[in-house]
Amino acid sequence: MRVFAFCNNKGGVTKTTTTVNLAYGLARAGRRVLVIDTDAQSNSTYSLLGNLDQENTLFDVLVSGAKITDAIVPTHQKNLFVVPSSINLSAADLLMASAPGRERKLTRALAHLKDFDYVLIDTPPNLGVLTVNAFIACTDVIIPIALTTYALIGISILESTMQELRENLDVSLPVFGVVANLDDHTRLSMDVLSAVREHFGSLVFETVVPRNIKVEEAHNQIACLFDYAPNSTGAVAYGKLVKEVLYRAEGI
Ligand code: ADP
Ligand code: MG
Repeated sequence: MRVFAFCNNKGGVTKTTTTVNLAYGLARAGRRVLVIDTDAQSNSTYSLLGNLDQENTLFDVLVSGAKITDAIVPTHQKNLFVVPSSINLSAADLLMASAPGRERKLTRALAHLKDFDYVLIDTPPNLGVLTVNAFIACTDVIIPIALTTYALIGISILESTMQELRENLDVSLPVFGVVANLDDHTRLSMDVLSAVREHFGSLVFETVVPRNIKVEEAHNQIACLFDYAPNSTGAVAYGKLVKEVLYRAEGI
């Protein structure tokens, strides 16, 4: 089971959009996929289910000791499931502050999962207890980056946090890939992309996802981008990205 954590401590850098579209793509490629939404904003939960009224959520798993298998909800896409988030997760930092083994709660929950090829963890835009849980539970990190001004600011904080976790918590935390997103085909996007490639080298996926309104529309309409606008530049790019991910993960 490959567990990808989508992390970048900035907001609005396409963590959720990349998580959701890769999840759809991998599920449609026949893999069994579970999205775990660790962001209290619940954007990936809403985009996959169209509502936020689930009985068991990640909060119940991490804070109240519910079984993760009782929190898994099927989506309308075959092979694609989600462990939903809820707004009460915004108190997790406080509620979990003194819980023993608080950084490994998600790791322990994932140990009960069988039958999934890929688990994709969407994370909040900060480096609090939920993101740390995602880092420790994952087999690999995927870093989505928006090709806008200051894209690399904050990356050093992300990298030093990851380094600290590697040293103190005995996790290897490899970066599986960096996804450049929101390409506007402007001079600025090109300059930021070269800076990102210079910094991360071959970790950056060849596919660069363009800014495309269809991506946002599909997300807002609780639709799968590959059905909603299959020929859009966004869907084509995400389709290529899915192939790159499968190639890196499975060699095919
Ligand atoms: P994060 O989870 O990092 O905060 P989101 O995935 O929510 O970021 O993306 C931020 C905003 O950008 C959202 O409104 C989303 O719909 C929009 N967005 C993401 N990717 C694209 C894209 N390729 N083209 C156009 N809009 C996009
Ligand atoms: Mg998000």
